[in-house]
Amino acid sequence: MSTTSEAPAQVKQGQLFIAGGWRDAASGRTFETINPATAQPITTVAEAGPEDVDAAVKAARAAFDEGPWSKMPAAERGRLVWKLAELLMENADEMARLESLDSGKTFGEARKIELPVAANVFYYYAGWADKIQGDTIPVRGPFLNYTLREPVGVVGLIVPWNFPLLLTSWKVGPALAAGNTVVLKPSSATPLTALKLAELVAEAGFPPGVFNVVTGPGDTAGAALVDHPLVDKIAFTGDTETGKHIMRQAAGTLKRISLELGGKSPNIVFADADLDAAVKGAFSAIFYNKGEVCSAGSRLLVEESIHDEFIARLVDRASKTAPGDPMDPKTRLGPLVSRAQRERVLGFVETARKEGATLACGGNPVQPGGLQGWFVEPTIFDNVTTDMKIAHQEVFGPVLAAMRFKDVDDAVKIANSTMYGLAAGVWTRDVGKAHRMAQAIRSGTVWVNTYGNFDAASPFGGYKSSGFGRDLGAHALELYTQVKSVWVNLT
Ligand code: NAD
Repeated sequence: MSTTSEAPAQVKQGQLFIAGGWRDAASGRTFETINPATAQPITTVAEAGPEDVDAAVKAARAAFDEGPWSKMPAAERGRLVWKLAELLMENADEMARLESLDSGKTFGEARKIELPVAANVFYYYAGWADKIQGDTIPVRGPFLNYTLREPVGVVGLIVPWNFPLLLTSWKVGPALAAGNTVVLKPSSATPLTALKLAELVAEAGFPPGVFNVVTGPGDTAGAALVDHPLVDKIAFTGDTETGKHIMRQAAGTLKRISLELGGKSPNIVFADADLDAAVKGAFSAIFYNKGEVCSAGSRLLVEESIHDEFIARLVDRASKTAPGDPMDPKTRLGPLVSRAQRERVLGFVETARKEGATLACGGNPVQPGGLQGWFVEPTIFDNVTTDMKIAHQEVFGPVLAAMRFKDVDDAVKIANSTMYGLAAGVWTRDVGKAHRMAQAIRSGTVWVNTYGNFDAASPFGGYKSSGFGRDLGAHALELYTQVKSVWVNLT
């Protein structure tokens, strides 16, 4: 295996995966996907237009309405999803390498953390396939009433660039296990692992049309999927503004939607916390995957009495962490995903300075080892106040906004002061206080004395403008199934 971002990738070039086969875009158009570490093209990918999306949706529709998929025993469906998990692990090195080259995340994070977690999501839902069931209901009168829990139909899955394969697994796993067929649209910044996944789907033996991939821009390929009358549901992860747009668009065909959106998650450190653990936790909460994490602990709230010492320790750690080549095993911080994302992040840095936040470390673009990609130093702003942009807008980069608080009430007030409600962290040795905080914070996840844990079995999703619907766990099955009530006259 190569350990440099300069090496070319081995991927199928320039085609879409529709109805179990590979084909060019109807228009013949392609686009380049870029390596964020080098700013050089990796390979060429097909640019799907409305015609291609239509073909993919029709293939998915046929596989759902007529194909062997809907007639297949649930246990057999489960075995195919299990097989996909096995193939994912057999191909974990290549998958992780593609993910790292395409997104700038370190190969180590992709290979050691994200690949096994994605495979586990498929293993977990494989087990659910033959355990999705209805109820019998004791109604009045001489009737037998029972419910069937049935798949929704054709599901459009639209995912972002920060965890391309992992977030795909969160949606594909439950969708297929529940008996739906899918059309996946990855972000055009990071299409490669979705295409590789299609190869594995074919190898696993899924019937044609059950899983389709259309690569292309959101406002054309994504919009065509949202507008398509034969799509029953859209499961979306991405920016809050895009989510609002999709919600409006989906009204046209009255589609079901679930939205996993942005965040500005508070990570709250009380003076009675294990400070060694909290410093480590606060560091990885903001700098894992270069801060391009929807649930990043991007607001650090520190109790007044320990504030200065805590920030000094965190700054010390961040100052020693230099960005580098994501394929190098020593690197902890890769480049941002694109030039545009780096511009956006540096724009936030500039605004925070102007608004009076104290730049404690970082703040600059860098070119480690002469790499021409989009690296930014780990950055910490201190003395941030709630009115500053950096305190309530999502930066989506390695930039932390640190603030101080007086007591529990003050911490809760600050924590709940943004429009988002995706996740939060609480660090304290006081069990009662930890649980009171967990109840008071308006977010879909609260981590206590830890940060950023995920499990296939535990639900994840947003409160407020961080969206609705829950990925993962048994909860996600509700998004991909619908209930039918059947009445039988017993007389
Ligand atoms: P984005 O909204 O720009 O794009 C997400 C996906 O939507 C991409 O595939 C894109 O092509 C597609 N898209 C864009 N416009 C569309 C349209 N008009 N119609 C249909 N599809 C369209 O988001 P991004 O920049 O790729 O990702 C970053 C965002 O994702 C951040 O806000 C982050 O917080 C959020 N995110 C949320 C979660 C979560 O679970 N809540 C997880 C990861 C990322």
